[in-house]
Amino acid sequence: MTQSIDLREFDLFAFCRSGDTADGEVALRELPRILAETAAQAPASAPDERFRFQVHGMAREEAGEPGRAPVRRLFLDLSVEGSVWLNCQRCLEAYAEPVSTATRFEVVATEEEADAAPMDDDEVDVIAGSKRFSLLTLIEDEVLLALPVAPKHAVCESVHESLVTGADGQVEPEVEATPEEEKRPSPFAALANLKTKH
Ligand SMILES: [Zn+2]
Repeated sequence: MTQSIDLREFDLFAFCRSGDTADGEVALRELPRILAETAAQAPASAPDERFRFQVHGMAREEAGEPGRAPVRRLFLDLSVEGSVWLNCQRCLEAYAEPVSTATRFEVVATEEEADAAPMDDDEVDVIAGSKRFSLLTLIEDEVLLALPVAPKHAVCESVHESLVTGADGQVEPEVEATPEEEKRPSPFAALANLKTKH
């Protein structure tokens, strides 16, 4: 069943238990931490650019300890598609970095339980559910995690191609580039601050 949910506050447990699905769009201006990462030279329309998301909840019965009742585990699949304006560390121009994530989360009852979850399971991230869960915050976390540490164009327009690709056409190994400019406060970061101050 597809339903519309309040992205700032919905019952994640109930959503997973009933196997619900929801999708929609979120504007960058709703995501202050991404706004703060947005390149200062991004188009003025950037805060209106949208991320598409899809969420799907699941409940799975698993056999418990011998002699105990089966355990019901809750899961949430979240995918997010969009792009974020970043500064290329090679040519310092702003460009739209495509973002595409697909993550499965196990939903547990409390923060303590989430913290205690074993870290060796690479398949599933564990999050604490809530009856007033903010999907907006989870989407924001996912986009932030997807951003490259050293953002770069695949090929910079203002750098000669021979500097970008080696003789065999392979992209050169990552070089830790430092932007030559002082990091200026982004107008989008300022906008993000305005949003959070009230
Ligand atoms: Zn570049």
